[in-house]
Amino acid sequence: MTDGRSLIRSWWRDEAGYDWLVEVLESHAALGWVKAMIGTGGAVMCAVTALSLVSSIGPRNTVFAVGCWMVVGLTAVWALRWWFLPWPSRFRAVLWCAAGDVAITFGALAAQHRVYGALVTTLLTVIGMCLIFHGPPVLALHVGWSLGSISTLAVLLVADDPSHSGAAAGDTRIAIAITLIVVALSVIGLPTVQFCHWVWRLHALLDPLTSLLNRRGLDYQLSQTFRGRTGSAYAATVDIDRFKVVNDTFGHQFGDEVLQLTAECLRSAAGKDAVVARTGGEEFVVVGWLHDESVEAIAERLRGAVETMPRLPLVVTASVGATAFPVCNLLNPVLLRQILRRSDTAMYEAKSAGGNIAVIEPLYDAAVCITEIFSTPRRTTTSR
Ligand code: GH3
Ligand code: MG
Ligand code: MG
Repeated sequence: MTDGRSLIRSWWRDEAGYDWLVEVLESHAALGWVKAMIGTGGAVMCAVTALSLVSSIGPRNTVFAVGCWMVVGLTAVWALRWWFLPWPSRFRAVLWCAAGDVAITFGALAAQHRVYGALVTTLLTVIGMCLIFHGPPVLALHVGWSLGSISTLAVLLVADDPSHSGAAAGDTRIAIAITLIVVALSVIGLPTVQFCHWVWRLHALLDPLTSLLNRRGLDYQLSQTFRGRTGSAYAATVDIDRFKVVNDTFGHQFGDEVLQLTAECLRSAAGKDAVVARTGGEEFVVVGWLHDESVEAIAERLRGAVETMPRLPLVVTASVGATAFPVCNLLNPVLLRQILRRSDTAMYEAKSAGGNIAVIEPLYDAAVCITEIFSTPRRTTTSR
């Protein structure tokens, strides 16, 4: 497990929440419902602005009145857009949220009664909830905007005329209290919810027995690892040989300990920047960058590390299938699946050769990044 500081650091750097959420929602056929709810949020804001406009305390002057009618139009477009158009890209979603932030602050400043204006700024929290899935830096910008908005309103309230804001005008205590309400919502509430959501997601991506990534965690981590990077990488599938016999002979609990030891040993044999996952009962996947070593050497190192695991009353061995591949900025998930299938196929070949062996299936065409993987591989078997 990581320490608190590096956990916070990883949280701050996490970016993929949005794409991940969209994929998850889609896979559960929930995208349409969420889209409808976000659209309805816009419709509610539209109604709030229209009612404020025609209320007894309406906008402070004609300029604000015109601006508020524009906000009515913008929020109506927001609602229609989310109801009827496809889910937007991450960038467009952030733009919509930024427009929402500006519109809400404008509506808050427009209100004749500053306390009502402050109430309007609490709507910024709704935008903040949409931004939870865009990563901490984006949310921090939103929190900064919310604080700037409420502070401005607080100052204006202190300087306001009682004919507009009644008894609250000029009352510093009310101004501070109103500011603290937004602090509680935006500075404390939103980041805490986002952090807990992130930790929960992280936890769901880990295998409880070995604390390695699970299959879903592997997919997620690889999408992060290869984002914006180029170079040569390898994927290796490692399957313990005759593990059923280990369970049958020494018991299931001992089998669990072997799996934990294997996880530890692969983790340290793979190196710091490699992604290691337990993708099945006694099957592991290691994906990493190729620097000075060849894929053959790495596969052999992984195989040898399992064979020489200490603290065991028997020798445990594994079959390893590995393949090398080029990475070009962002590896398409379909290609990634094909690459993992190739290392899996190589592992089965190692298994049918008797186990405790590494089989390499090299990819020798850099065009793999944009086209498809060749289906006629050259195979070499390394040491046994
Ligand atoms: P092979 O050499 O062909 O890979 O044979 P194998 O026995 O390793 O593979 P097989 O697929 O026949 O059996 C896998 C075994 O792994 C069966 C299952 O009970 C065991 N297993 C799966 N998950 C766990 C687990 O979490 N803990 C323990 N102790 N055993 C597990
Ligand atoms: Mg096995
Ligand atoms: Mg297996």
